[in-house]
Amino acid sequence: MRKSRLIKAGNFSLGGNSPVRVESMLKSSLDDVDSNLKELKELERAGCELVRMAIPSRKALKVYEILQKETSLPLMGDFHFSSLLVKEAIEKGMKMVRINPGNLRESSLKDLVSIFKRNEILVRIGINAASFPNPLPPGEEGAKEMVKILREWLKPFDKSSHSLVICSLKSSDVKTTVLANQIFSADSDYPLHLGITEAGGGLEGTIKSSVGIGILLWQGIGDTIRVSLTGPSTDEVKVGYEILKSLGIRKRGIEFISCPTCGRARINVEEILAKVKEISQPYAKELTGLKIAVMGCEVNGPGEAKEANLGLAGGKAYALFFKKGKIIQKVKKEKMIDIFKEELKKLSKERKSC
Ligand code: SF4
Repeated sequence: MRKSRLIKAGNFSLGGNSPVRVESMLKSSLDDVDSNLKELKELERAGCELVRMAIPSRKALKVYEILQKETSLPLMGDFHFSSLLVKEAIEKGMKMVRINPGNLRESSLKDLVSIFKRNEILVRIGINAASFPNPLPPGEEGAKEMVKILREWLKPFDKSSHSLVICSLKSSDVKTTVLANQIFSADSDYPLHLGITEAGGGLEGTIKSSVGIGILLWQGIGDTIRVSLTGPSTDEVKVGYEILKSLGIRKRGIEFISCPTCGRARINVEEILAKVKEISQPYAKELTGLKIAVMGCEVNGPGEAKEANLGLAGGKAYALFFKKGKIIQKVKKEKMIDIFKEELKKLSKERKSC
């Protein structure tokens, strides 16, 4: 397991023994402050721990100033092209910035680093393979080039001992992203932000991100993640937690297990699972880490989902309830949902009395 250096900014920590953080980025129009505030609240509810915000102009900086007074979430300004805007943001109190070596002049870096150091600014150096005037090739060649550029950009930070730095190496190609992060992390302890850039939306984007981020996390690489999706920012956070949950890295909410169904199914698993999720929703926080299973048949269901704390499986005219693979009761199908509610209440009481 790679151990990265601990980074602290106010109440926020990253790297070291901190949990792998889940990030997202504001998507609301910069002309609409209320929408940005609403989005921030939704992100907070979803469990987002760091929010990035595009700062393409002075107008955006004004919006940032309003938002940062209204939210307890750490806000990181995302800058492209203008080092002047970065300096202005810091003058206005911004404490976290992301700079992109693909479009910021390297000659401005020395000056910026001394400002970062003086003001204790947390900096993400975010390499994006597509940002360079001549986009980097995918595969090993591009991965090595990304790492080479990042190492160059790190030199002035190392020289000035400004250690509040997070690095990221992203490409829209999963293999390139994985290789670049593996190469860089082999001899560096900088915390790494992971993500697959321009991953797409829906199923395609979710799979690309999950595969890329998942491979790296499984190898112990990565301190904070953003699942870039074309869609609501809260979906990025939900998918991020699902990736972490699937690898046993973090727990959040109840974990649902359900079978894919086959010709043996005795209940409509999809329908029952939707009902079970809806009923369980109010218990998500207090029953974090609990596993609930909905399985299609009594023959294989209890065995296939024996890790479930509570499960139900369909029979011909009845349904079976089970805990850790052991049948606890057999009920008429029409009573299944009512009994599920009762069992959930019991689990909640048990947790409270622990
Ligand atoms: S639990 Fe039963 S219905 Fe579901 S996939 Fe397995 S065998 Fe098929």
